[in-house]
Amino acid sequence: MNIIFLGPPGAGKGTQAQKICSALNIPQISTGDILRRAMKEGTETGLKAKSFIDAGQLVPDEVIIDIVKERLAMDDCRQGYILDGFPRTVPQAEALDTFAAIDCVIELDVKDEVLVERLSGRRVCVKCGATYHLSMLNGKTTCDVCGEELIQRNDDKAETVLNRLKVYHDQTAPLIGYYENKGLLKKVDGAQGLENTFAAIMKTLGAQA
Ligand code: AMP
Repeated sequence: MNIIFLGPPGAGKGTQAQKICSALNIPQISTGDILRRAMKEGTETGLKAKSFIDAGQLVPDEVIIDIVKERLAMDDCRQGYILDGFPRTVPQAEALDTFAAIDCVIELDVKDEVLVERLSGRRVCVKCGATYHLSMLNGKTTCDVCGEELIQRNDDKAETVLNRLKVYHDQTAPLIGYYENKGLLKKVDGAQGLENTFAAIMKTLGAQA
């Protein structure tokens, strides 16, 4: 099944996509992760993307569309995939229609107040990318999975978070109507806790949890 996870930053797309992908044994294609890796490696794409990401803006469509097109052509995507963070604009969705057949779009619905709280308290492992919330860490500053340092993403800082939410409402939320018109959109409450949200998505996909 070819699935899109749609929703504002902090809605839990990455966390839920990871869980659903391991349950269904399909790859998670996170454009945010691809871009962060490119920045870390200092590639041309990474250098192009950095100023946009740090400011909470979207990287230009032409940069991200080619990356996704190449990734979806790889062998491991033949049995399906979850797109996490793509498309984020109508032109991206229109481009995707030319090289992929999407079966289902899961919209994770979470209120802005909850998103701000989640994002500004989010800490990530510099090495493995595992995510935590400050409220659960009790002062701990290292990763439970690999022991490395936990940091705050530059774009999770307060002023950038508000900008990312505005960008979501202006540029990405129109995709809700786009996929509704195609009869592909399924809305899931993303504020009901990790396990309940996971179960609700699995049910929506018609899969066994
Ligand atoms: P994420 O980890 O999905 O929140 O993405 C982090 C940042 O990467 C976003 O704020 C954008 O700057 C950039 N990004 C990720 N996916 C896309 C996309 N599909 N289109 C444009 N920019 C993107």
